[in-house]
Amino acid sequence: AISSSTSSLMNSTRADHPGGRDRMIKLDHGDPTMYEIFWREMGDKTTIIIPGWQFLSYFSDVSNICWFLEAEFAKEVVRLHKVVGNAVTEGRHIVVGTGSSQLILAALYALSSPEATEPISVVSAIPYYSCYPSMANYQKSGLYKWAGDAESFDKDGPYIELVTSPNNPDGYTRVAMVNRSQGLLIHDLAYYWPQYTPISSPSDHDLSLFTVSKSTGHAGMRIGWALVKDKEVAKKMTKFIELNTIGVSKDSQLRAAKVLKAVSDSCEQENSQDGESFFKFSYMLMTQRWKQLRAAVEAGGLFTLPQFSPSFCTFFGQEMEPQPAFAWLKCEGDIEDCESFLREHKILTRGGGHFGASLKYVRISMLDTDETFLQLIDRLSAIQRQE
Ligand code: PMP
Repeated sequence: AISSSTSSLMNSTRADHPGGRDRMIKLDHGDPTMYEIFWREMGDKTTIIIPGWQFLSYFSDVSNICWFLEAEFAKEVVRLHKVVGNAVTEGRHIVVGTGSSQLILAALYALSSPEATEPISVVSAIPYYSCYPSMANYQKSGLYKWAGDAESFDKDGPYIELVTSPNNPDGYTRVAMVNRSQGLLIHDLAYYWPQYTPISSPSDHDLSLFTVSKSTGHAGMRIGWALVKDKEVAKKMTKFIELNTIGVSKDSQLRAAKVLKAVSDSCEQENSQDGESFFKFSYMLMTQRWKQLRAAVEAGGLFTLPQFSPSFCTFFGQEMEPQPAFAWLKCEGDIEDCESFLREHKILTRGGGHFGASLKYVRISMLDTDETFLQLIDRLSAIQRQE
């Protein structure tokens, strides 16, 4: 009830005419509200009650490197990766974070060296996730510094490369772009889940980041996790979080454990019961949305979308095409600033410049409510009819 009244409140405050057809539709953030229907259907399966006397302590398990990691949450992380087959967890340290955003900063801190004579360069290939440059630079750290596009990076010496796969904003699968050693890699795998991309094999990197925000849609819980091979790196990441927030909300970790458990259960029970797994549900929803979006775009000549080839998904056991969480839309012809153009038509998107790319591109969230998504389709179709 809370989430439904909150979302209608948000819609009415952002509407030019509350609830009206002329409101600005905000698709510049990837707010994953589309999964609400699934979680409503799950009823009390993911409800938790925490009495006031519980979880007063800062500590969870002082024998663990990540001493604020709740055992129940760690158990469900390992189980879910096994069920989905998207990451190796054996021989990894789990570090929990307040969203994967905190873990990106923790990883930059952990991989840089206080003894270095200059800040280590942080790079990512264009189009990169729009938050990386400001995350790397907003504190003007002496430890690390944003150095832009990984593909054209040619400075000697150590560097940190952020590898986002599948990529935000364009949805393509990625590998490291800087072709030399001395690179320290952070794999941001926020979207490496079967509803968005075929799972080709369990990821097996030195440092990978995941988040409930995009996997289950619980962005408001603010929970992410890192799988870290090196013990010293895991220790330094833990230290960063200790300095930053003295740990991560236990309430959120327990809620996350319950939600991840429900996802794993839904996958394992799919064959024995009528119920549908979370990934089947979300996959079908994404398939339907991408079909509608492609049909609207292909009906005119004004816009184009990325094209993907299908590949085998080990989770679904069949060939499938990527269906990213964002549409990386290009304005063809003489529209130079696609973000402004769409804003005139009451569609708020994030322009290509934020991602180091051309202004002819915009990123549009595919994860909003059905109502907003259908309005997007209507408006894109109407624009193409008018122009
Ligand atoms: N990495 C990528 C690539 C993302 O798209 C996002 C969310 N937009 C994040 C990290 C941060 O997610 P959160 O802090 O909600 O876990």
